[in-house]
Amino acid sequence: MKYSGFNLALQSLFKHRGWQPAWRAAEPRKAYDVVIIGGGGHGLGAAFYLAKYHGITRVAVLEKSWLGGGNTARNTMTIRDNFIYPDSARFHREALKAWRGLSADVNFNVMLSERGMTTILMSDRDLSDARRMINTTAMFGAEHRIIGVDELRRRLPLMDNSERFPVVGGVDHPEVTVARHDAVAWGYARAASRLGVDIIENCEVTDIVLDANGVAGVETSRGRIETRKVGMAVSGHGTQVAAMADVTLPVETCPLQAFVSTPIKPVIDNVVVIRSLNTYFLQTDKGELVMGSVANPYPSFSQQGSSAIPERTLASILQLFPAFERLKFMRQWAGILDLTYDNSPIISKTSTPGFYVDVAGSGGFKTTPFAAKMHADLIAHDRPDPLIEPFSLDRFDTGRLILERASYGNR
Ligand SMILES: Cc1cc2nc3c(=O)[nH]c(=O)nc-3n(C[C@H](O)[C@H](O)[C@H](O)COP(=O)(O)OP(=O)(O)OC[C@H]3O[C@@H](n4cnc5c(N)ncnc54)[C@H](O)[C@@H]3O)c2cc1C
Repeated sequence: MKYSGFNLALQSLFKHRGWQPAWRAAEPRKAYDVVIIGGGGHGLGAAFYLAKYHGITRVAVLEKSWLGGGNTARNTMTIRDNFIYPDSARFHREALKAWRGLSADVNFNVMLSERGMTTILMSDRDLSDARRMINTTAMFGAEHRIIGVDELRRRLPLMDNSERFPVVGGVDHPEVTVARHDAVAWGYARAASRLGVDIIENCEVTDIVLDANGVAGVETSRGRIETRKVGMAVSGHGTQVAAMADVTLPVETCPLQAFVSTPIKPVIDNVVVIRSLNTYFLQTDKGELVMGSVANPYPSFSQQGSSAIPERTLASILQLFPAFERLKFMRQWAGILDLTYDNSPIISKTSTPGFYVDVAGSGGFKTTPFAAKMHADLIAHDRPDPLIEPFSLDRFDTGRLILERASYGNR
């Protein structure tokens, strides 16, 4: 059933009892043309684009728990394109643009909201990095701009103005956007399901079956499924799933935490990044302040996090925004990220024919529609689009890394 004003009015006549489930709860079939492992935004998106652009509809998305319960539901929703190296500036520019029109494409409101982002700069080093980022991204059409201290203070009236801290200016990122993360997963699931894709929850892939020609199928908690093509989009479980296909990924898995305050009246209308302190925050539509910082500095698969990072993040924010001192802390959580050694995503074929990977942890929520589109294209044609060629796995052999270690901004 199409979501439209007309259908909304029509259903209201029946007390909204006529809506159908957003996607079919499918049973696994014996064989598929493509199996996607991972029912987050990246995996569901890839399945949708395979069906929509490549006419491949015998596709299953296998999710070990519930749809979008991984990092898709845990992230802080910021969609930005402030990167320093040309390959990644180009990639993330395309990724940012790919969000426009997504709601119409999947007929589901993903609540895209162009909030803008303000980065606070606190040293000459920050300023020179910002200039470099602005010049690089401008080549691809981005509109970041340096702003002076006076304008920064006007934009952020709650910022401490005692001049205790060496704020030297800021960056205005007018195109930075947020989207409702669950809606992205649900929208893709519904749209893919309408095109014939089987969405199978509570179905864990436990092994990948290989033969002399490469991938031959997957073993799952609900039996064996035959397929010649597997796309992996499992975020923090990449190393484990890739190992099933005899592929070693150059990644380290670390928890990343975020937390929210209780709701308050609107006080911040964009995403705020304190660059030197590696901290960011934004206010949700419900009024909570969402805060985050860097990943935990040690590998772990735990999704619980620890107290050290929230404490450090709060201390950083309070230094510049002491007005938040009396906010109540409501909830904290963690997700696990597959971080590559150059902090850039991997969307690639692998040494195992028929096994393709979208290692999204470092690409992030922000790249979901574009990465999914590129992953689908790679699976369909067995060759990478030129835009994602630099993000192939072989860069770790050739040494042609995209060293976004100092990625200009945060998650
Ligand atoms: C606290 C936090 C804040 C973040 N903030 C941002 C942000 O502001 N902006 C941004 O761009 N990015 C952000 N990120 C990163 C972003 O959340 C992820 O990179 C992105 O959501 C990954 O999406 P995905 O679909 O690949 O993974 P997921 O949504 O994690 O989906 C992968 C799915 O694979 C399933 N799975 C795993 N193993 C198997 C298996 N063997 N069989 C079947 N299914 C399996 C999992 O259950 C999971 O549902 C943040 C992450 C965290 C943790």
